[in-house]
Parts: sequence; structure tokens; C-alpha cells
Amino acid sequence: MLNFESSPSFEPGRVYNRREDLHGHYGGQRQGGISTPADCDLIFLFTSAAGQEYGYRDEFRPDGTFWYVGEGQEGHMEMTRGNRAIRDHRADSKALHLFEGLGEGLVRHLGQAVCLSHHREDRPDVHGNMRSAIVFELAVEPTNGRDADSARKPTGDYKESSRKWWTRPQEELRALAVQPFPTSASEEEIREAAYRRSKAVKIYVKKRADGVCEGCGNDAPFHTTAGRPYLEAHHVHRVSDAGPDHPRWVIALCPNCHRRVHHGQVHHGQDGEQYNKRLASQLDEIELS
Ligand SMILES: [Zn+2]
Repeated sequence: MLNFESSPSFEPGRVYNRREDLHGHYGGQRQGGISTPADCDLIFLFTSAAGQEYGYRDEFRPDGTFWYVGEGQEGHMEMTRGNRAIRDHRADSKALHLFEGLGEGLVRHLGQAVCLSHHREDRPDVHGNMRSAIVFELAVEPTNGRDADSARKPTGDYKESSRKWWTRPQEELRALAVQPFPTSASEEEIREAAYRRSKAVKIYVKKRADGVCEGCGNDAPFHTTAGRPYLEAHHVHRVSDAGPDHPRWVIALCPNCHRRVHHGQVHHGQDGEQYNKRLASQLDEIELS
């Protein structure tokens, strides 16, 4: 059984100063992707866009899980130190917390995580040589449980068709989108919950947009083969767009707007970064009003 209850609560979506707020309070290694404070039941995981150059391509997967590449800059990764800490965190009763590096010592909390399993795959090391890397499959909890509508229990087969998903009413999709993981559940149940939430968020934001880009206000440029207006889900806080998250941070964009924002993020300082900030505040208005 997996357990999501525990530990000091960090707030998903909130920005922390890594050195002061995390290591200053809890200890742990100040450098690197995996930090294991000695005297508390916490493990900090850090993911960043910068790591992508070295084969550390952490990412949300279509099934709603997050794949996190273990530590070890060169040669085959070994199941020791930080890697072992992730693998054994449940047995050791340590809570995993995932943060995304924003640069200049700031990190954004993506949520508490549980390690479902791990596998090995070939990825380049820091010198570009292929080696065996350990990839952890995590379920990330972005809601902190606070949005839960406890009256609503997730319903329906999570494998049901997209068409069926689209017929769900908005309130139901939103309830599913913010449904926390059960506090105690099997690996299979957590995987299903992650998938269900990921699917619910994507469809919810597209239905919310109702055929109009939430960035520029233009109509979707064309319709899909299923007859629905074509828009793309964009995450205003994360580099990786896919995966489960919260309707508050996901906006439906036309392909032009989506390219614009990503182009600017890749080539630092261009308009996309500004544009993304504007989208984030637009989203606040849409979701909070
Ligand atoms: Zn647009």
C-alpha cells in the first residue's frame, strides 16, 4: 500500500528559496538533484530544464506518471545513495517532494510524490557516452488535498473512450481533475488515479475554452476529426507540458500562441517568457473569478 499522508506540507505551485527554505530548515545536500536530509522523513527531488542537456530528461508521461532520472553523472547508474533512497522511500517512511528549478536558487514545488517503480534505459552521460540510467516512475500529487470535493468519488472506467470523456459535464471533469490520490492505495490504483486526473485536466481546460484560444482570443484554427475545435493544453509553470496537474495552471491555446510561448522559453529573454507570464495572470482571472 502507498501512503500520501505525512510530513511538513509544502504548497504545490509555490516558489521556495532552495537554500533558505529547504536546506536551511531541513538540512540535506545543497547541490544535485536528490537531497536526503538526515534527520527528517523527507527526500527532496529537483528537476530542471538545464538537466535536459545531459540526458536528464525528466518528464510527465501520457499515462500521468512522472519519469525522473536518477543520479550519477557518468558511467552506469548504481542503486546507491540518492537512487536507493528514492527506491526505498516507502519502506523507509520518507516523503518525496518534487521541485522544479527556476534558476537563481529558486524552486517551485510540483507536489508530493510516490515512487511506483523504476526501470533502466540507455541515456547519455555528462560526456555524451551512452550508459544505463535508472528512471523512476513517480505519481505526483499536485492538489495537496485541499481542493477535494469529498462528496464526489471518482467514477467510470478510466480506460473509457475519449468520446465518452468529452460527454462528462464540466463540474464532474473539474472534480476529477482535482481529485487527490487516495491516501492509501495499491500501485495499480494510484496509476489509474494519475491517468484519470491527467485526462480530466486536459479535457476540462479545452471545454472551458469552448473553441476560443484562451491566449489571443481567436477561434481555434480548425476542427479535429472528432469534430472538436483544435486547441492545445499548455502549462504556465512547467517546462514539460504533459501530465497531470491542476486546472489553475493549464491553459488552452491555439498552436500559434503555444509556439510563441515555447520559443521564448527556449531562447531566453524573448517575448515568450513575457507572454507566458501574461497567460498565467489571465488564467488566474479565468479560474478564480
Ligand atoms: Zn492563440
